[in-house]
Amino acid sequence: MINMVVELISVGTEILMGNIINTNAAYLSGRLADQGMSVYFQDVVGDNEERLTETLSLALSRSDIVILSGGLGPTPDDLTKEVAAKTAGVNLYMDEACKSAIGDYFNKIGRTPTDNNWKQALMPEGGVVLPNHNGTAPGCIIKTEDGKHIILLPGPPEELKPMFEESVVPYLNELKSGVILSKTVKLCGIGESSAAQMIADLIDNQSNPTIATYAKTGEVHIRISAKADSQSEAKKLLKPMVKDVKERFAANIYTTEDDVTLEKAVVDLLVANDLTVGTVESCTGGLLAGRLINVPGVSDVFKSGIVTYSNKSKRRLVGVKKATLDKYGAVSAETAKEMARGLAALGKADVAVAVTGIAGPDGGTTEKPVGLVYIACDVCGKTRVRECHFTGNRQKIRDNSVVAALNLMRECILEYFSEKTFGKQQDNK
Ligand code: ATP
Repeated sequence: MINMVVELISVGTEILMGNIINTNAAYLSGRLADQGMSVYFQDVVGDNEERLTETLSLALSRSDIVILSGGLGPTPDDLTKEVAAKTAGVNLYMDEACKSAIGDYFNKIGRTPTDNNWKQALMPEGGVVLPNHNGTAPGCIIKTEDGKHIILLPGPPEELKPMFEESVVPYLNELKSGVILSKTVKLCGIGESSAAQMIADLIDNQSNPTIATYAKTGEVHIRISAKADSQSEAKKLLKPMVKDVKERFAANIYTTEDDVTLEKAVVDLLVANDLTVGTVESCTGGLLAGRLINVPGVSDVFKSGIVTYSNKSKRRLVGVKKATLDKYGAVSAETAKEMARGLAALGKADVAVAVTGIAGPDGGTTEKPVGLVYIACDVCGKTRVRECHFTGNRQKIRDNSVVAALNLMRECILEYFSEKTFGKQQDNK
């Protein structure tokens, strides 16, 4: 099996100037890793013919596949295609199918193409044209004489991503010999260093499958990848290591499915147990409700999300006692508990979650520093409160609070049902 080395070249002076963030490179690198391909270099180059030619030549000298993004537009400073064709030693020709697709696209959006737009239908001879269903610039793959592949993609991410998925992934799959299968075990309620420590032996001794940890806000993902000649062989290689990792992290695993997020896992748990949910938030200001409502189908379980930012609203909307606020303060375990219970008492939800904390940058004291957050979760009358200490800026503290709240919800629901089941078993004895 050959190790395919891919190099990314992001073309655009805007990227060099810091006007736009190079999200295309992040996206492509992530997806190429999923495909089991190695990215050793990422380059950024401005809209300059000489420097682009130099960068592309260097990339072709050390990588098997070079993916260029951007610079396929209609203006004279869009020169990626011209440079790529010249470097590969091929001419550009007017592709009639591309020309009519561009005409149709302009018809659809009710605009008349300018002369410049037809430039986008010029294609390198012998190349594979990649259709663009979300814009006018088609992509292209050129195979060079010495067997390298140059792949040209448009700059706008909403055009690049679908083109990559629809046309490039199948092309790469044909190039790869063998199969790469990955499984991601997603964890919450544990830090990356502790997680890495718990699988240090697997990391140190890895060969095939490989194993790596990835930190996400408040979560850790462990990806295990196996390479083999067939799907079934790759599965066989993957299985024992996935099983081992699952056993080591049992309680922290919220899913092993690629398309399941933490909020989806929580919503699935609510739906499966026929529980409704409500949120009452202070420092997260609705972010928790927003994350839950991101999940399609949440309407079956989500009742209401209230933002009680001021003390007054904490009293008025969810009945936090004045005495509690005076004695313990708005950021306290007691207030969090009363917020959750107050929401639950409104009779609106089986699971009531409350978040109150100090997101900063101001408002911290020695006793209650910035990053101190209390989360309370009430499941059918049983309330748990968790004290959290987060670091980072205001956004990071708020994002971490949301993840911690989702995690606490998950734990409380699981605990409630395991106690109920255990209780029943005891009763039956
Ligand atoms: P167009 O047909 O729209 O001109 P293009 O292929 O010529 O597309 P560029 O002109 O290089 O692409 O970029 C168009 C827009 O795409 C940029 O203004 C930017 O918003 C976005 N874009 C380009 N490159 C990147 C990148 N590497 N990461 C994120 N966004 C990008």
